[in-house]
Amino acid sequence: MMNILVTGGAGFIGSAVIRYLIEHTDHEVVNVDALTYAGNLESLTAIEDSERYAFEQADITDAGIMAAIFDRYQPDAVMHLAAESHVDRSIDGPAAFIQTNIVGTYTLLEAARHYWKALQASAPEKADAFRFHHISTDEVYGDLEGPEDLFTEETPYAPSSPYSASKASSDHLVRAWHRTYGLPVLVTNCSNNYGPYHFPEKLIPLMILNALAGKALPVYGDGQQVRDWLYVEDHARALVKVVTEGVVGETYNIGGHNEKANLEVVETLCDLLQELVPAERSYRDLITFVQDRPGHDLRYAIDADKIERELGWRPEETFETGLRKTVQWYLDNRSWWQRVQDGSYQGERLGSL
Ligand code: NAD
Repeated sequence: MMNILVTGGAGFIGSAVIRYLIEHTDHEVVNVDALTYAGNLESLTAIEDSERYAFEQADITDAGIMAAIFDRYQPDAVMHLAAESHVDRSIDGPAAFIQTNIVGTYTLLEAARHYWKALQASAPEKADAFRFHHISTDEVYGDLEGPEDLFTEETPYAPSSPYSASKASSDHLVRAWHRTYGLPVLVTNCSNNYGPYHFPEKLIPLMILNALAGKALPVYGDGQQVRDWLYVEDHARALVKVVTEGVVGETYNIGGHNEKANLEVVETLCDLLQELVPAERSYRDLITFVQDRPGHDLRYAIDADKIERELGWRPEETFETGLRKTVQWYLDNRSWWQRVQDGSYQGERLGSL
């Protein structure tokens, strides 16, 4: 049984990780989250009463509070997911991305390093087993040229957006803290996630909710940008495997073998909705092409061979089964997204340490 400090646990992927840890393992979890617009404690109502779960509202850029949290909870591992994560927002306002993704990761690394150093003196076995897992994105690799190319763990970094550049920076910091100070780190780079509790600004939930409301479905450029999609619960399982069984110092790519052009994703969603919520109009008629995002990468695709071979992880959902589950979840959980849309999810804000 481990005591795991999860940062960003009120976000889309962090909340899936925490639900998985509480529902499928014996580990204890402390969730450290600043509750920005992307943090939603209502994604954790299923597990919030567990005795193995604790929440601290705190900003990872605050060194004093991070030190106090390490001191109080004495974690065996850190899973670092807290980040600004939306590419469009990074283009409109990059400052928060630099602050949280780079300065915040640096601050957390330093808090972890001082805690780990102290453990070496007071509890050497616990220090030996300690690990710092940084959760990152395949967008750090830039885009792929040939239709057959795949990102591997050795692909050189070539980030395109302020978001991916800030994540690339944080990956480099994490590796440097391993190389320079010996901090036991693991890094994972994952493709696009989708699934329940996804904030409605992201492509798949945005399209589902716009379609249900009869609004336009905006598709960037010609919609031919290719992304590899992974169901969020498959990602959560992969992350728990890496933090518990991964080899310290290693990087693992995580992907779903589901390369789809954005337009194909939107059309598939329209067809699923047509079946599940029959309407006289065709949802596909709502598709509207809009001006492309600056610096938009054309194609991402992940080679997830290493994690499959070395840790025995495989995605359980295909794109078709995962997308169907996702659409059904949004149909069954209207109050979750309606409270995001009307802002009432932000009503509950707790005190910090
Ligand atoms: P998200 O935006 O849904 O959640 C981010 C969480 O971090 C929120 O709960 C927010 O309140 C919290 N947070 C933000 N700034 C903070 C700060 N300064 N201090 C403390 N907490 C803060 O993001 P997500 O989609 O769940 O992504 C989680 C991680 O996974 C990110 O690091 C992201 O780069 C990475 N990732 C995401 C995807 C994807 O498809 N969503 C794919 C690969 C990797």
